[in-house]
Amino acid sequence: MDAAEFRVKAKEVVDFIADYMETIENRRVSPDVKPGYLINAVPKDAPKDPENFEDLMKDFKEIILPGILHHQHPLFNAYFPLGHSFASVLGTMLSDGIAGISTSWAISPACTELEMVVTDWLGKLVSLPKQFLHEGGEGGGSIQGSGSECIFLALSAAKRHTLQNTVDEAPRLVAYTSCLANVCVQKACSLGSVILRQIEVDENLSLSVKALKRSIMTDKSNGLHPFFVCATVGTTSCCSFDDIYELSEVCDKENVWLHVDAAYAGCALVCPEFHYLIDGKEKISSISFNPHKWLLTTTECAVLWLKNKKPLTDCLGASATYLQHKHQAETTDFR
Ligand SMILES: *Cc1c(COP(=O)(O)O)cnc(C)c1O
Repeated sequence: MDAAEFRVKAKEVVDFIADYMETIENRRVSPDVKPGYLINAVPKDAPKDPENFEDLMKDFKEIILPGILHHQHPLFNAYFPLGHSFASVLGTMLSDGIAGISTSWAISPACTELEMVVTDWLGKLVSLPKQFLHEGGEGGGSIQGSGSECIFLALSAAKRHTLQNTVDEAPRLVAYTSCLANVCVQKACSLGSVILRQIEVDENLSLSVKALKRSIMTDKSNGLHPFFVCATVGTTSCCSFDDIYELSEVCDKENVWLHVDAAYAGCALVCPEFHYLIDGKEKISSISFNPHKWLLTTTECAVLWLKNKKPLTDCLGASATYLQHKHQAETTDFR
């Protein structure tokens, strides 16, 4: 496909997307297909010669779309909403059109600086304290692909921070979360090779602070090292809220990293009347939520803010001659 053909076909695709959104309510919400339906409908081997665009679009409509759950359908009420807007699709087109990467500031300075600016904007919108903003100094936000990645990275930063500050040789690290926390906390602990305690909830379905304190005390007296608590603002199963203020007091006293997983409900913090849900935020270490769930961005956009970004950039900041540049001291390299 050359530029001339691209100009024509791209406009057809844009029309298709606009038609899809305008008529989406006429579709069935969820797929009604049997396992193997697509595998059996397409050739076993890649075609030797290119297929024409009209045939591909026909396959897209007749073979692919029937196997898609239509998250933007007005009757889709399962799981979580998935953010979408025409403006966001245009942004994705521009970004795909450039097809760049931004491993360091020097590779594409615009990418790093734009990410710093917009994560600061969003951080201010949801009332994060100044320490969580790039303009504030040591902290800042970064864009990840998913809420799960945010939690794994927060846990990795917490590990780095804790191991740098302990005198014990390889302490056995313990993480805590509520039994209603998202499964990605289990995944993060498994990948991070740390013990996870799933703490019971109280009558409000919030992580029981009493049970947490008890568990931390028992672990400490058994020679283990409590290092990470993952609180949830809006749990996946029932949208319950952990008491961030109470947890921040406990974690501060115990010198434990407190991460707030607000993947879904954190989007509601753009409304000032919900800011109280993260009271205690001055003492938390990190927080993340997914604009791709409830704001107007399409996947993938999950944002992680840290009060001190150094342990994370230390984890990810592997160096190689080809990544070095003369502005390293004055810039952020997200890696
Ligand atoms: C959706 C959700 C996650 C996982 O987010 P992904 O982007 O799917 O990885 C984690 N925690 C909570 C509370 C969620 O709602």
